[in-house]
Amino acid sequence: MSQRNGVWKVIPATAKTIGFLLWLGIGLLMRFVLLPRDPEMNQWSEWLKDLLCFVAPMFLLFYALLVGYVYGDAKRRGMRHVLWTFIAALVPYAIGAIIYFVIRDPVLDICPGCQTQARPGFAYCPKCGTALKRSCGGCGRPVEADWMNCAHCGRKLGAGAPQDA
Ligand SMILES: [Zn+2]
Ligand SMILES: [Zn+2]
Repeated sequence: MSQRNGVWKVIPATAKTIGFLLWLGIGLLMRFVLLPRDPEMNQWSEWLKDLLCFVAPMFLLFYALLVGYVYGDAKRRGMRHVLWTFIAALVPYAIGAIIYFVIRDPVLDICPGCQTQARPGFAYCPKCGTALKRSCGGCGRPVEADWMNCAHCGRKLGAGAPQDA
């Protein structure tokens, strides 16, 4: 379960790199090119200029990470990740990303046997038959790891590995 919730791991390294470069690049551009040309801003004290140039472009970093997250997240959910990345990146005010988070599909399980993506409700891989979840020995349906009894047929469940009786 922990790998599903690792937000940082879902974001591709490319998006992180682009985000940091944008932050750094725009920050330096503001500090050394734009601010010195603005007569009003030149009245500001140096530390205030530093702070502004450090904080203001930070939203670019967040935006790059957000778009990167949509890419990685849509991919692992078996959605059209390229399309969603464009929508998240191009629709202004992060509205594309918000729509994505509202309508996204559930996370897919990856079969350890053949790497096929399987829907979360599946107890067995549809391709190779590997057990994906613990399943009930009585009715064969998937059961949660902490269940003591099968919620589908009521059979008592032992503790332990997938596919136990
Ligand atoms: Zn499989
Ligand atoms: Zn059962």
